[in-house]
Amino acid sequence: MYADLHLHTFFSDGTFSPEELAAHGQKNHLAALALTDHDTVEGCARMGAACQTAGIEFIPGTELTAEQDGNELHILGYFLDTQNSRLLSEITKFQSVRQNRIREMVARLNELDVPLKVDDVFALANCRSPGRPHVARAMVKAGLSGSLDEAFERYLKKGRPAWVPKMKMSAGEGIELIHQAGGLAVLAHPGLNRTDESIPALVEAGLDGIECFHTKHSTTTSEHYLEITDQYNLLVTGGSDCHGMSKGKPLIGTVKLPYTHVEKLKEAVARRSVESLNR
Ligand SMILES: [Zn+2]
Ligand SMILES: [Zn+2]
Repeated sequence: MYADLHLHTFFSDGTFSPEELAAHGQKNHLAALALTDHDTVEGCARMGAACQTAGIEFIPGTELTAEQDGNELHILGYFLDTQNSRLLSEITKFQSVRQNRIREMVARLNELDVPLKVDDVFALANCRSPGRPHVARAMVKAGLSGSLDEAFERYLKKGRPAWVPKMKMSAGEGIELIHQAGGLAVLAHPGLNRTDESIPALVEAGLDGIECFHTKHSTTTSEHYLEITDQYNLLVTGGSDCHGMSKGKPLIGTVKLPYTHVEKLKEAVARRSVESLNR
């Protein structure tokens, strides 16, 4: 039995609906799925219902953007109470930061004589957590760029003229926010962000696990992070980071996390809730 614990829908920058994503999970014979849309838990209710219909175990989650020692890193939250009021109010703040960033990027593009309309980006994104992929897609759709890659290379990548830095919370704040909503906090794709030197501080802040298996991790990278989880006694997760059809073909099913790791996550959540009852 296998799981995929890193997935996106059109509630952030993925292209699949929760129902389409669950159907792909079923096609790939996955026993458990987690939804980890950026800065939102909106898709979790529909995804939970779709997974139930498909006979798949569902874990409600999110992916938060944070910062540690000046580096951007992503923190996955699992087994979240999606009604938690502080989580929801913080998420609303992150979403307005995202929307303002889109406005700023479009303003910069306009200054560069790329006549993209901000309303076209919001209409295409059609979600509360818009991001750079939506800007790139809107540029292609309006005939202002030949491809998504071209849009990123010329304008949107870090350091390019229309790139706008993101306002981020600290990693410690992200971990605490996830914990107070009953969840486990996991460092996403560390191999992508090269944040090894930050791991001791994250562990100190209460990090529960590391995403050792990811589409962009080589076997060597995965083994490296498995060793680190051993060293710090952290949980192990993994997922495809599937964004639907945005990268040509869906990635779901390409990274298969053995289900035993899901069991360990569930034991950790159960221990956490017993501890909080005794507090
Ligand atoms: Zn990420
Ligand atoms: Zn992701």
